[in-house]
Amino acid sequence: MAHEKNVLQTIYTELDDQFEEIVNWRRYLHQNPELSNQEEKTAKFIEEKLLDFGLEVKTNIGGNGLIGFLKGSEPGPTIALRADFDALPIHDEKEVAYKSSNPGVMHACGHDGHTSALLGTAQTLSKYRQYIKGNIVFLFQHAEELPPGGAKFMVEENVLEDVDYVFGVHLASDIPLGKIAVGEGYQYAAVDKFEILIEGKGGHGARPQNTVDSIVVGSEVVHSLQKIVSRRVDPLQSAVVTIGIFEAGNAFNVIADTARLEGTVRTYDEEIRDLVEEEIRSIVKGITDGFHADHKIDYLRGYPALYNHEKETEIVRGLFSEIFSEKDVVELKPSMGAEDFAYYLLERPGTFFSVGSQNEDTRTHYPHHHPKFDIDERALLNIEKAFIKIVSHYLF
Ligand code: MN
Repeated sequence: MAHEKNVLQTIYTELDDQFEEIVNWRRYLHQNPELSNQEEKTAKFIEEKLLDFGLEVKTNIGGNGLIGFLKGSEPGPTIALRADFDALPIHDEKEVAYKSSNPGVMHACGHDGHTSALLGTAQTLSKYRQYIKGNIVFLFQHAEELPPGGAKFMVEENVLEDVDYVFGVHLASDIPLGKIAVGEGYQYAAVDKFEILIEGKGGHGARPQNTVDSIVVGSEVVHSLQKIVSRRVDPLQSAVVTIGIFEAGNAFNVIADTARLEGTVRTYDEEIRDLVEEEIRSIVKGITDGFHADHKIDYLRGYPALYNHEKETEIVRGLFSEIFSEKDVVELKPSMGAEDFAYYLLERPGTFFSVGSQNEDTRTHYPHHHPKFDIDERALLNIEKAFIKIVSHYLF
């Protein structure tokens, strides 16, 4: 045990020397962002690094995804660590030297940071192969931002086949640097998307009796869908129904024949997820029938809810409190946002945690997906420390 501690200490000291290099990688990625499913150059960059570190590499997994495989010196469990690497269709508004050079595309969620920190982790651990009893799969994942999510396709390509535990991280601009957040249970919501077409009968605005007003019917639908959460869902469960688009009409004195609604449903529990869909279908049918309109519903299931496994989360919380101070290991706050890491956790036990990237400088306070989003790069060191601590627990 003392021996393992020493190895970990040595590794941690070396991380400081490597810091400049991972910051350079992060800045390179930040300057060269690529949209979901178009990350060819990014994948190539990662591949070259992994080969450089002497790992076995497999590319084009379910798209632009790739893995680096590190075989330890003795048999043991296999741990998967994941970073995502796609950027967003946002125009970078920061004034920094490493600003995006790809107009309209930006690493506004921190995926560049996840990737460089995981590359750093791979580089470091590849030098300590002799202490590793088991294997590490470094999952570099494309298209996190675009449903159904790159994770789904990588899982379908069996990246978890020999994996026993899986861990992932997200930088968090609302958590101060130095803090790390863990939490069991549901942390991110299942995300579904629906489109409702209401088909009425158009006509003159002065003669409603000869029409079926799709705007009036659509308005009833909007109001009634809000009652699913308040009247049909168990108050102790979580759900959101949001209509983001309501389009109808062309002229002030004409009754619109069709109305189109689009919205999103967020839930944690799979039964609640089914219930909300059924209720939407039933309400839309009831209202349109009642008002002599027709309807079509297109309902798409997106990412599942992300559930952090109790046992692994508890282990990780304990491990983190050994390397960060007790007050710096905080509780992760569940949100109704989405994260496709959920797919991995449906297949294998593990946990997804957050690393604080906010400092006193307000430039690091912008929310994720904001055109001025940025991080305190020292957070990358904390990601590495966290990943390496987890590896040391299971494999050293
Ligand atoms: Mn993200």
